[in-house]
Amino acid sequence: MNLTKASFMKGFIRFTSEACKKGWHERNGGNLSYRIPQDEIIGVKSALNEVVEWRPIGISAPNLAGEYFVVTGRGKYVKNIELEPEKNVAVIKIDDKGENYGIVWGLTDGGSPTSELPTHLLNHELKKKLTDGKNRIIYHAHPANIIALSYVLPITDKDFTRELWQSFPEYILVFPEGVGVVPWMIPGGSEIAEISTKLMEKYNAVIWAHHGMFVCGNGFDEALGLMEVIEKAAEIAVKVRSMGGKKQCVTPQELVELAERFNVDLNKDLL
Ligand code: 13P
Ligand code: ZN
Repeated sequence: MNLTKASFMKGFIRFTSEACKKGWHERNGGNLSYRIPQDEIIGVKSALNEVVEWRPIGISAPNLAGEYFVVTGRGKYVKNIELEPEKNVAVIKIDDKGENYGIVWGLTDGGSPTSELPTHLLNHELKKKLTDGKNRIIYHAHPANIIALSYVLPITDKDFTRELWQSFPEYILVFPEGVGVVPWMIPGGSEIAEISTKLMEKYNAVIWAHHGMFVCGNGFDEALGLMEVIEKAAEIAVKVRSMGGKKQCVTPQELVELAERFNVDLNKDLL
C-alpha cells in the first residue's frame, strides 16, 4: 500500500500546493496537521511502521491519546511536499497519555514534525472536544497582509476583528465570532501554544503578531477558506490605508443588520 495514494494524503498534498501558490509559505514557513479518522487509519495500517522512539510533545493532550496525525516536517520546505511527500511529511501516533508522539511513516531523510507541534496538538485537543470530533485541521501560515496589519493596529481582538469585518463586510458570515490576537512571542513552544489555545476557545482563527496566523477547520477546504478570507480582508485594509485611509465604510449597525438577515450569531462584543 502506497500511503501517498490514500485520499486523505492526496487532500493534504493538494492543500499544501494550493497554499504555496498564494505566497504564504516562503522557505519552511508555515505548517499543517490533519487528525486522521480511525476508519482511514485502518485502510492504510499496512503502510505504517511500528513506533521506534517515543518523543515528548512538550504539552499534555490526553484527549488525543491513540490518535494519528499527518504533519509537516520541521524545517522542511512546504513547496517540496507535493514533489516528495515521504521526505517532508510524517504520520505520527500519540501515546496513551497524550504526552509523547512516535513517527510511523515519512521523514525518510530524518527530522521531526513541525516545531509548532505543541500549538497544533493543543488546538486539536480543544477543537475535537468543542466540535464533537468534527474538526480535523489545524493550519499555520505567514500571509503578508495580516502580518503587516500587526505593525499598525493595536494588538487586540477587537481592533483586528473590526478592521477585518469593515474591510469586507460579507466575511462576517465566515468568521462571525471574530479573530483572536497573540502579541509577539517566541514561537515553537508550549507557552505560545497555551495562549493560542485559550483564544481558540472563542475563535477559529488566531493571529500571531509580526509572525502569521493559525486557523482550524473540519475539512481541508474550510481551513484554507478561512485563511483566504481573513488574508483577503487584511489585503484590502492594507490597500485602503496605503491610499490614505477610509473615507467611508459600513457602520457597526449595518454589520448587525447583515448578520441578522443571514441568521448569523455575530460577536457584538467586538463591534
Ligand atoms: P517549521 O518548519 O518547524 O514548521 O516552522 C515553520 C514556522 O512557520 C514556525 O512558526
Ligand atoms: Zn511560523
